[in-house]
Amino acid sequence: MPTRQSKVRDIRKYMKPLIDTVWRENLRLKASGLVTFTWGNVSAIDREAGLVAIKPSGVDYETLTPADIVLTDMKGAIVASALKPSSDVPTHLVLYRAFPGIGAVVHTHATYATAFAQACRPVPCLGTTQADYFFGTVPVTDPMNRRDIRSEYEAHTGDLMVKKIRRLNMNPLDCPSILVANHAPFSWGPTATKAVENAIVLEEVCKMAWLTYALNGKTKPVASCLLEKHYRRKHGSGAYYGQTARGAGNPK
Ligand SMILES: [Zn+2]
Repeated sequence: MPTRQSKVRDIRKYMKPLIDTVWRENLRLKASGLVTFTWGNVSAIDREAGLVAIKPSGVDYETLTPADIVLTDMKGAIVASALKPSSDVPTHLVLYRAFPGIGAVVHTHATYATAFAQACRPVPCLGTTQADYFFGTVPVTDPMNRRDIRSEYEAHTGDLMVKKIRRLNMNPLDCPSILVANHAPFSWGPTATKAVENAIVLEEVCKMAWLTYALNGKTKPVASCLLEKHYRRKHGSGAYYGQTARGAGNPK
């Protein structure tokens, strides 16, 4: 009869590759300068196992080890873990349930992206840097109503993002970041590495948009043919940018 301890060991052993990735990507997020104190988190999902690996709540990045990474099931129940997960876990779970194509979620309060979120301003695609990663505007959600703030706030934060992406009729992987009104950005991707990259790029394009508007407040979004050109050469079946040798497969 397996003991509880041996079951925990088995689950964590099976999940080790994802746990290690989530630990590493949380450290990379901190090293990228996008996170002050503990204001950020990375999670990733094993859809076959129905388990999510996420940063624990309130643990400093400096002392974070793979053993601290928390596993939860799709309802948020802690599995084979000693610590409590990030308080944002219900938000991450709403996104995983709604968007089956995503494998990881990142949340930060990075300065420029958060400034746009606080101003409730979307980020129009003003240049090719954004067009390489986002198929158009980075949207902003509606503000949350009082009732939703009072109960199940974190899950309702996820609902706002899902509602916005669905209303725009976007494939979430073509729009891998969104600004939550009055709050901050969330990004996602097929993997944790890609989701963190999207979060880093989002902060850069928000900074560029801020500076562009400072130089010319009437700057218009790029032409749709330029957006198409830059996005499609990196994404989808017609992608050709980068190296494809040695089975790299997905050019970047
Ligand atoms: Zn937050």
